[in-house]
Amino acid sequence: MKERGYFGPFGGAYLPEILVGTFDEFEAAFEAARADPSFWRDYEALMGNYSCRPTPLTYAENLTHHFGGARIYVKREDLNHTGAHKANNVMGQGLLVRRMGKHRVIAETGAGQHGVATATMAAKFGFECTIYMGAVDVARQRPNVFWMERLGAQVVSVTDGSQTLKDAINEAFRDWVTNMDTTHYVLGTACGPHPFPTVVTYFQSIVGQEARRQVLDQTGRLPRRVYACVGGGSNAMGIFSGFLADQGVELVGVEAGGHGLETHRHAARLASSDASVGVAQGYRTYFLQDDDGQMRETHSVAAGLDYVGVSPILANLRETRRVRFEAATDREVVDALSLTVQKEGLIPALESSHAFVQAFKEVGKLPPEDVVVINQSGRGDKDIFTVADAFEDQAWQAFIQQKAEAYRAH
Ligand SMILES: *Cc1c(COP(=O)(O)O)cnc(C)c1O
Repeated sequence: MKERGYFGPFGGAYLPEILVGTFDEFEAAFEAARADPSFWRDYEALMGNYSCRPTPLTYAENLTHHFGGARIYVKREDLNHTGAHKANNVMGQGLLVRRMGKHRVIAETGAGQHGVATATMAAKFGFECTIYMGAVDVARQRPNVFWMERLGAQVVSVTDGSQTLKDAINEAFRDWVTNMDTTHYVLGTACGPHPFPTVVTYFQSIVGQEARRQVLDQTGRLPRRVYACVGGGSNAMGIFSGFLADQGVELVGVEAGGHGLETHRHAARLASSDASVGVAQGYRTYFLQDDDGQMRETHSVAAGLDYVGVSPILANLRETRRVRFEAATDREVVDALSLTVQKEGLIPALESSHAFVQAFKEVGKLPPEDVVVINQSGRGDKDIFTVADAFEDQAWQAFIQQKAEAYRAH
C-alpha cells in the first residue's frame, strides 16, 4: 500500500490499520471501473443528462478588447448542477458507490459547497447521507445547511477543537471506521490518502478533455496558458490534465494570497515559502504548519481556497516545474470579479476569480494571436454576502440587519 499512490515524494496513504482493507476495496473498485470502457460512457451520459455537460468554452470578447492582448476563453464549470465543478467528482464517486454495493455516503464540508453537492448526489442515487461540519461553519453557512437538510442529509455539527473543517474531517473518519461495510467517504478534492487524489483527478479530467477539444475547434490552436485557482486542487487538476502532455501549454495555478504573502495571512502553500512538507490527514504534501507540525490559521476571502494542505499531484508538478504557482490577494480578487461581471456578465465564484486575477495581469503582454483559457470553477451567486461586504453596499447591509432583527424577535 505504502508504495502506491506516490507522485515524486508526495502522496501515499498513511492509514490506521483498520481502514487499510476499506481503501484496498475502494482502489480495486476504482481500477475495475477505470478499465471498463462502459464506465466512462455511463459517467459522461449521467453528466450530460443531469449536469449540463459538456459545459461551454466562452470567448470573453469584451475582456479581450479591454486588455488588448491574448484572446481570453472561459471554461464554464459554473454551469454544472449545484454551481461548480464539484458535481463532476461527487457524481462520479456516486457511480463507484453503486458498483461497490454500498448504500450510505458521508462527507466533510467547510463552506458547505461539497456538502450540498454530496447531498444532491445521495438524493439522486437514493443513498443515505451524513455530512460533518464544524459548528462554527454550520452557523456561518446557514443557507447551505438548509439545502443539505432539505435534500435529506443529516448534518452533524462538530463541536470539537476549532469547530471547523479539520475537526469535521476527524469526525467523518471516525464514522467511516465504524461503518465501513455500508458506507463510502466522499472526499471532495484531489487530496487525502491514495487513491483519492487519483480518483478525484480522474473524474475532474472531463473538464480538461472537453476544454482541449473545444479550444482546438474554436480557435484552431492550443492555448498559450491555462489558469485555474487552487484550493485542494481538483478543478486545477481537472483542466490541467487535458494539457499536461502539451509541452507548449503553460499551466498556472493560483492560490489564495489573502491579505498578502508578506502578512502570512493567506493560504498559499505552493506560491509562498511559508509551507513545509509533512504528513497529515493521511498523506504527504506541503502544509501551512509551524515548526512543531501544528497547522496554522489560513485566510482567504474565498472559503473554498482556505485549506492547509494541497494536492500531492500539484505539489509534484511544482517540483518538476510543469505548473507555475502564483497567489492573488483578496483585494485583487474582488476587483477582478467586479470587472468580469461588468464586461462579460459572467459571475465567477470568489475562488475562480483568483485565476482571473493572474490571467488579467498577463494577457496584455501576450500577442493577439495567442489564446488563454481560464477555468471558471464555479458561479458567484453564493458569495453575495462577502461581495456585498467588500463593496460596503449599504442597502444590502440594512436589509441583512432588518432580517436579523426580525429573526431575533421571532
Ligand atoms: C471548492 C471550490 C474550489 C476549490 O477546490 P479545488 O479542489 O481546489 O478545485 C474552487 N472553486 C469553487 C467554485 C469551489 O466551489
